[in-house]
Amino acid sequence: MPVLRVALDLPLHRLFEYRAEAASTADVGLRVRVPFGRGERIGVIVAVVDQGDWPDAQLKPAGEILRDHAPLPDDFFALCEFASNYYQAPFGEVVLQALPAGMKRVDPPTRRAGRAVKVRPAGVLPELTAEQTVAIDSVAVDGGFSAQLLFGVTGSGKTEVYLRLVERTLALGGQVLLLVPEINLTPQLEERVRSRFPERTVVSLHSELAEAARERNWRSAFAGEAEIILGTRLSIFTPLPRLGLIIVDEEHDASFKQQDGMRYSARDVAVVRARQLSIPILLGSATPSLESWANAQGGRYGLQTLKERANPEAQLPTVHIIDTRRATLREGVSPPLVAAIRERLAREEQSLVFLNRRGYAPVLACPACGWVSQCQRCAANLVLHLADRRLRCHHCGFENGIPKACPTCGNQDIHPYGRGTQRVEEWLQAEFPEARILRVDRDSVKSRKQWESMLERIHGGEADILVGTQMLAKGHDFPKLTLVGVLGADAALYAADWRAPERLFAQLMQVAGRAGRAELKGEVLVQTQYPDHPLFAALASHDYTGFAAAQLKEREQAGFPPYAFQAILRAEAPAMAEAVAFLDQALALPAVKEHEQVMLYDPVPMKMARLANLERAQLLAESYSRPALQAFLPRWREAIAGLKASSKLRWHIEVDPLEL
Ligand code: ADP
Ligand code: ZN
Ligand code: ZN
Repeated sequence: MPVLRVALDLPLHRLFEYRAEAASTADVGLRVRVPFGRGERIGVIVAVVDQGDWPDAQLKPAGEILRDHAPLPDDFFALCEFASNYYQAPFGEVVLQALPAGMKRVDPPTRRAGRAVKVRPAGVLPELTAEQTVAIDSVAVDGGFSAQLLFGVTGSGKTEVYLRLVERTLALGGQVLLLVPEINLTPQLEERVRSRFPERTVVSLHSELAEAARERNWRSAFAGEAEIILGTRLSIFTPLPRLGLIIVDEEHDASFKQQDGMRYSARDVAVVRARQLSIPILLGSATPSLESWANAQGGRYGLQTLKERANPEAQLPTVHIIDTRRATLREGVSPPLVAAIRERLAREEQSLVFLNRRGYAPVLACPACGWVSQCQRCAANLVLHLADRRLRCHHCGFENGIPKACPTCGNQDIHPYGRGTQRVEEWLQAEFPEARILRVDRDSVKSRKQWESMLERIHGGEADILVGTQMLAKGHDFPKLTLVGVLGADAALYAADWRAPERLFAQLMQVAGRAGRAELKGEVLVQTQYPDHPLFAALASHDYTGFAAAQLKEREQAGFPPYAFQAILRAEAPAMAEAVAFLDQALALPAVKEHEQVMLYDPVPMKMARLANLERAQLLAESYSRPALQAFLPRWREAIAGLKASSKLRWHIEVDPLEL
């Protein structure tokens, strides 16, 4: 009797077998209902065989095979297999996470058909610059696998390059997958794609879509109807029958990395997918990740550069570094920044004050006894949110009212220390009572709708001063914005995390790119106590290349990625001792001694040593050889799975971690 091998969404590295009388190999790639435990689950048929690993009598019969879509194709399984092996993630989890939630439900809701959106085309196409032409021609849309890094400052015309390549791919009958970090932050891009290709079917795939819409879009993409798929990281696993080109916009962005569940990099998976399908991939950024930059320098990726802004009148902004050691700050704002904002108000231009910390103040404290507002569940402080009078943990979501007096000593004179966007907004409003100030952060913008209306207000000139976090840094074009002030950049300069300068530089380049995109020249003022830091010199001369070279040199000397390859084993348990003891056991496993090219470090508590009442520790594994690390990890993982641990202990392996 035929036996199905079924992938299920379970944390187990194995498939599950079921009997199915009428099944044939044509059913591979279809979904199937199967009994599991006391209930039923939806799985995916990976193989149909005559004889399973278990005696037929021990196998349960499968339920209905679902035939509401074509079978998932071989290349889909090949990609899932790569991801499962590379990221040490159970194959079933990888396969099932690729499907929209509705298709995994045992009782699916009934669906209505969606309506197509009609869009008007925007106008005449710009004449390409010489650099754009070279970049476009470097990507042979019918020439097999190639990986190109498109390096160009904000406004240099990268999106125009994408659109022309989309056009070429569509003309050949292919589908295009355009990956973006956070679709909600870039409604302008979606609109631009839709209006450029009004006759084509464009769908978006991201986690904020309602479940039914996401399933509809996914099915349309899988059926080959959708020609352009605009998606966030999860869309990289969508099966696409005629995929001809992958574009990854803002390829350096950390949101391509999934930090929980299956921990993978959608950008890296995208490169593998392009290679598996023999199609081109284009990675675009004004500040490429140092991994991609090193790949381009080493000749593994092609490098295409757009040096100038596409609109020659849109000059790059002038960057001034303000030495705050010599300035008298008021609420963290220096006199030159105040004066610059005043000038913009007089000229009816917009200013942006960038501070990547939301809330009113990062902590509330008692000067009499030293009490601080700590989260009871995490090794973190509760952030003061004055706007809605709450103390809130930004890590676990715990929240509380604001005490009237110190909970320890009764002192009524407790203070907020440090500052976040709310506090800066409050002070600016007092300083510039006539100004219309708009605060833009995750507290003031919670949904895509709110974000779109916020963008409309900014574009409509309803704000003189914007105070915001990195939400404002991404991909927006505000024609009246001519001044960017940067507060609080110093924390990242000397952080223990050696990736912090790379992130800071990218963030500052991005936020600086907001100033002066149209005819009005922009100015950027960065406040710092370390004006001589080389990062600021590179920023002031818009010198990504020099910055990247210096960083890569440091990393090579220190033996950090991309010159070494890393994986992390993390354990969390109610007590730190238990988590560390588990990691010690993992360190003592025979597999560790047998893989000489892999070096393991001692277990240490994580930076956030306690999160939501669990203590967390980690152990770093490192090698100069990726194949050596990849050979070690599965053997190690299997051995770890056999270790004795309490049922409260959780562990996982993360490959190529971005945060240590
Ligand atoms: P990026 O994606 O690098 O930020 P865009 O593609 O959005 O750059 O281009 C920035 C601006 O310049 C846009 O308004 C775009 O329409 C315009 N633009 C792009 N290419 C050209 C060109 N070749 N000639 C004139 N304008 C262009
Ligand atoms: Zn006190
Ligand atoms: Zn917490």
